[in-house]
Amino acid sequence: MRAAFTEAPPVSSRLPISYQRVPARLRSGLAGILGRMRRRREDRWARFPVWPLDLSADFLADAVGLPASPFARGATPVVLSHDLDSPEGLVNLVRDFLPLEEAARARSTAFVVPCAWPLDHGLLGELRARGHEIGVHGYDHGNRTPFASPPERARRLDGAREFIARYGVAGYRAPSLLRTRELLRDLRGRYRYDSSIPTSGGLFPVPNNGCASARPFVVEGLPELPVSLPRDGSLLFLGHGPGEIARLWIECAETIARSGGVVVLLTHCEARFSGNAKMRAAYREFLDFVRSSDRFAFSTPAGVLEKR
Ligand SMILES: [Zn+2]
Repeated sequence: MRAAFTEAPPVSSRLPISYQRVPARLRSGLAGILGRMRRRREDRWARFPVWPLDLSADFLADAVGLPASPFARGATPVVLSHDLDSPEGLVNLVRDFLPLEEAARARSTAFVVPCAWPLDHGLLGELRARGHEIGVHGYDHGNRTPFASPPERARRLDGAREFIARYGVAGYRAPSLLRTRELLRDLRGRYRYDSSIPTSGGLFPVPNNGCASARPFVVEGLPELPVSLPRDGSLLFLGHGPGEIARLWIECAETIARSGGVVVLLTHCEARFSGNAKMRAAYREFLDFVRSSDRFAFSTPAGVLEKR
C-alpha cells in the first residue's frame, strides 16, 4: 500500500483546460523526450517499486507465512487488456487485435472511455458477441475523477451507468492509472473489480508508484487485479523497441509465474502505441509464447477472481 495510490494530482489533472486538448501525438512526443532523458535514472523514478517488475510484497507474504497464493500451482493465468482512449482504438482492436487473440484462443477485456467520444455500438456489440469483455475506462479521460470532490466524483462515475448496464460491465480501469483511496471506495458497489494499480508503475503517471504484487488482493472492499506487466506506453516512452518489448513481457511473465502471480498485460490499440505493424508483431510474439507454453493459460478477470 506504500506506493499503491497516486494521491498527488499530476500536472495533467490540474490544468485549467483538459490536457486532452493538446494533440495526442504532441503529448506522446513530449513524453518520449522526457522518457528517454530519464531512462537511465531509474534510481530516482523506480526506487520502489523497482522497474520493470517488483514482486517484493509477494515475497514478503510468502516469507512471513501467509496462505500460499492460489496461483502458485497449475498454469499461470494470463489476462489481456486494452485501454481504448479513442474511436481509433476501438476500430483497430476489432480489425487488427481480435483476430490475433482469437487465433491464439484468447479473449481480452477492452476498457472503454464511456463519456468522451461517440461510441460505435455496432463494434462494441461485436466485441461482446465474439466473447470479449468490456470494461469502463473512467469518464472522459480528463484525469480528474480520482481527485474530484465526492459529489463530483459520484456524478462522473454515474455517467457510465447506462454503459455498464448495456454491456454487462464488471471492471474499472482508471485513465492514466491515476487512483486514490477515495476513488476505489466509490468504485465498490459500482463494479465487481478494479484493475488500475500497476505492479511497477515506473515513471508514469507519477514516479515510484505501484503495489509490488502480481497477485489479486482486496482494497477498500473491492477486488484489485494489478496490471503486472510493464505497459506498452511506458516502454515506448522510455525508448524500447518492439523486439525488446516482447522479450521484456516474456521475461517478466516467467518471473511472475515462478512467484505465483497473475500476468496482466495492458496495451493500447491506437497506432501511436501498439496499433502498428511492428508493435502488433511484438504482441503476437507474446501471444504465441503463451499459447505454446503449458506453464501459462489465457484467462479473464472473472476467471482469475473466482479462483482467488
Ligand atoms: Zn487511457
